[in-house]
Amino acid sequence: MGYTPMMQQYLKIKAEYKDSFLFFRLGDFYEMFFEDAVKAAEELEITLTSRDAGKDDRIPMCGVPHHSAENYIKTLIEKGYKVAICEQVEDPKTAKGVVKREVVQLITPGTIMEGQMLEDKENNYLAVLHASDEQMFGFAYTDMSTGDTFVMKIENDWSSVLSEIYNRPIKEIVIDDSINESFRDDLKEKMQLTVSSAIHSKEIPDQMDYLNESVNEPLLQYVCKLLFQYIYHTQKRSIDHLKKAQVIELQEYMTLDMYSKRNLEITHSMMRNEKYGSLLWVIDRTVTAMGARKLKKWLERPLLSRQLIDRRLEMVTGLYDQFMEREGVRESLRSIYDLERLSGRVSFGNVNARDLLQLRNSLSKIPYVKQLLKQFNHTTLQELGDKIDPLEELRELLDRSIAEDPPVSITDGGLLKDGYDEQLDQYRHTSRNGKSWIAELERKEKENTNIKSLKIGYNKVFGYYIEVTRANLHLVPDDRYERKQTLTNAERFITSELKEKEALILEADEKSVDLEYRLFLLIRDKVKTYIPALQKLADIISEIDVLQSFATVSEENNYVRPTFSKAHSVRLEESRHPVIEKVMKNESFVPNDIQLDEDKFMLLITGPNMSGKSTYMRQLALTIVMAQVGCFVPAKHAELAIFDQIFTRIGAADDLVSGQSTFMVEMLEANHAIHHATNNSLILLDEIGRGTSTYDGMALAQSIMEYIHDHIHAKTLFSTHYHELTSLGERLAGLKNIHVKAEEINGEVVFLHQIHQGAADESYGIHVAKLAGLPDALIDRAQQILTQLETKNVEPTESQQKRETNLQEEQMTFFVEEKNNTRKQSKAEENVVALINQWNILEMTPMEAMNKLYELQKKVKGMKGRN
Ligand code: ADP
Ligand code: MG
Repeated sequence: MGYTPMMQQYLKIKAEYKDSFLFFRLGDFYEMFFEDAVKAAEELEITLTSRDAGKDDRIPMCGVPHHSAENYIKTLIEKGYKVAICEQVEDPKTAKGVVKREVVQLITPGTIMEGQMLEDKENNYLAVLHASDEQMFGFAYTDMSTGDTFVMKIENDWSSVLSEIYNRPIKEIVIDDSINESFRDDLKEKMQLTVSSAIHSKEIPDQMDYLNESVNEPLLQYVCKLLFQYIYHTQKRSIDHLKKAQVIELQEYMTLDMYSKRNLEITHSMMRNEKYGSLLWVIDRTVTAMGARKLKKWLERPLLSRQLIDRRLEMVTGLYDQFMEREGVRESLRSIYDLERLSGRVSFGNVNARDLLQLRNSLSKIPYVKQLLKQFNHTTLQELGDKIDPLEELRELLDRSIAEDPPVSITDGGLLKDGYDEQLDQYRHTSRNGKSWIAELERKEKENTNIKSLKIGYNKVFGYYIEVTRANLHLVPDDRYERKQTLTNAERFITSELKEKEALILEADEKSVDLEYRLFLLIRDKVKTYIPALQKLADIISEIDVLQSFATVSEENNYVRPTFSKAHSVRLEESRHPVIEKVMKNESFVPNDIQLDEDKFMLLITGPNMSGKSTYMRQLALTIVMAQVGCFVPAKHAELAIFDQIFTRIGAADDLVSGQSTFMVEMLEANHAIHHATNNSLILLDEIGRGTSTYDGMALAQSIMEYIHDHIHAKTLFSTHYHELTSLGERLAGLKNIHVKAEEINGEVVFLHQIHQGAADESYGIHVAKLAGLPDALIDRAQQILTQLETKNVEPTESQQKRETNLQEEQMTFFVEEKNNTRKQSKAEENVVALINQWNILEMTPMEAMNKLYELQKKVKGMKGRN
């Protein structure tokens, strides 16, 4: 037996949408069959049933009601799936054979444009990636809801591609065969993207050519084509709001690689991967969704052009200086609707009268914003105000046409104001007249029949009727009243007079609803012609919003406007960490100066654990990012250079989050920095080399520093546990030692978080261990060991090299002993002592100390066992 014709139809369509759930419209349901049904039942927690499909065995089936499909679709999309909506495209009543069905839209995580699936304050990107060779990638991404498209070339290597993707709200990526299997896996696993295959076969209509207009390079044209093919194929509907693809020259922006974005917690905190605790969290005081999205975009791409940075800073200064006007701007922006996304929805024909009313309300605020901007003393702000086109005509049209409290539906009337259209007014007049005539009739009939409870009602089946309760039936004038319906307690009648009027009213109502609908569509089409203007307006409004956000946080948090030095130097007075100072509740953050210049461009920071080394390093990087996006910075005085790239490498021990605390990863990251950094870059190396045994790590740390010093000349901050490294300051002219001070008060360590010149002379490992709450007995024992070591230890003044050789020899003998168990116990003991001697307890974290102790104990136990 074969499948039924409908099943054959299903299978044919499904074959084209293999990687999507096919929502197959059957009456009031979308049904799914076969594996789709099994998987959907599981993902959506709905009942799996089965159905006869013409073959012997029944096939799995499940379904969702058509009217509540949106939520189910949302769930699947959020889980990264795609859903193909297959509708009946002819009337089942007139269809011969199986009703014709077609996929009318493919909903994918990257192409959603409306409704609950979108986050207000987040973009939602669909990306495309193509590799022309191993070091050259074409990359584009678009937000279908706003119509923005960006396209760029990514040179270098795969990690640069991942850095572009990382933390950007890309939901789905379309790739072609040029992307190999392992890259594909990275996109899926590491970046958690829905990966879709390019659709080469679909040609795009000529109307879409304009999207490519400003793209000249063949590689970029190619990725744009892949992108638009995919969009066209999935949407199958009007996408007029898409803007021309904008080419991004990555070298015009500061490069923040993936590790820096993560380590610096620019838009997401490391601990919880959310906005709270990130730089974005501190500086986001935008009041519109468009502004919030733009702020994030700016943060993702700090500027390099001094002119552009200064322009932003100039406007922030203006807004900062005039509090009252700024508050006025903030207030008016608050009631401005998401014009960017509205444009998208206008384009798909998806707006109702309420949306247009909101558009009108938003537009009515614009002249005020424009006027406020003119009141600022700074010309940059006045100029921004001049650029605003308040779209008076559009506002006036909406004002005249759209009713004040329209319904959600656009097919039931009530959308338009009286006076907008003459014909509509006439219908309404007839209908209203008729209705008051009916009210009058009700009054008259009550009087004539003497039935107090008589009333005239209306329903869709019988139209207007006169209702009389059972108790009053004897009063009904049989000659005029015609019985129409019997209810439990009442009877309903009609009269010829009533029916005549009813015909008039209904005709007028019907015509007016019909006319309103048509008029509304015309208005909507008119609004459509304003899409580019609305997008431009949205762009300016969101820019103002971001700038006022910068001014607002800058004032509230006491930030200062940075200046940029010609010499590539940094001079920060009383610099603070923008996030930590916000998170610290009752204590106050200790500000520190930071200075770097051509002569001393590397800082080696020493100091005990928890003293503030990492904080100090990161606050410099964050300050630079803030300055280069155009915000003021947390300091009393700030002179900065413009940095082309920031690299941060966090030593394995501090890298708790990623879990990949292998030394290899650390070295890969350092390698990345060394290969790409220039003398205009900033490198933060925080406790690098910690992931391996002390001497390896130290040797590598030292050689990395020397290499950067001699060959790269990048501004570098280097924190270390290795005291030995501080002597490098004597040899490397560009390196300066600084340390974070801590004081011991009554046997307890107190962190002052103050940066001082020179190398730290003491460490406080044991005190930190005590603060961490390790048992007293353990702390006492550590103190004892320390004292022993201090009395026994090699002279601290002894040259580093000599010590190293000594220790290496000791290590060798120890291993020899391990192999030949024949040696005397006393020798083994000596070796344990030698091992302990190697430890630099002062520089260990409490955890490391514990581990060492544990190892030692094992060794000692082993020795005993052999006796
Ligand atoms: P380290 O890297 O030296 O181990 P961190 O930079 O991680 O130390 O700082 C440890 C903690 O000390 C931070 O979480 C913060 O609470 C606090 N801290 C650091 N710097 C300061 C400062 N300048 N003022 C106040 N508290 C600070
Ligand atoms: Mg640290």
